[in-house]
Amino acid sequence: MNSDRASAAGGQRVCRRCLLSDLAGEDRKNIDRYLQAVKEGDRAPQEEYERRLGICRTCERLQEGTCLSCGCYVEFRAIRRRGTCPKGYWKETESPDAAAGRAGAGHQRLREND
Ligand code: SF4
Repeated sequence: MNSDRASAAGGQRVCRRCLLSDLAGEDRKNIDRYLQAVKEGDRAPQEEYERRLGICRTCERLQEGTCLSCGCYVEFRAIRRRGTCPKGYWKETESPDAAAGRAGAGHQRLREND
């Protein structure tokens, strides 16, 4: 195995580009439990969550599921709608209510311009 891409962590070999969810066993269960406990309204949409993690996977700051810029586990940061990347590679997601409010305001402005 390429020593530049992996290191030993608690006897388990972990790829630097891996996320926590790539782990097996009890660790994985604990991660899933945490991710599932995030309230629906606080969650980023699944597609956005996966897009964020795709960016993290290619980032030079990712090491063993942790962002070296902020020290967070990237999955825990990316799952939250209001989560942001400390380097600005991805940003928070607007809440559905805010998006609906903006859309409503846009319709109002259009009506005023009629
Ligand atoms: S949160 Fe940002 S800086 Fe950190 S690993 Fe992900 S993309 Fe890189």
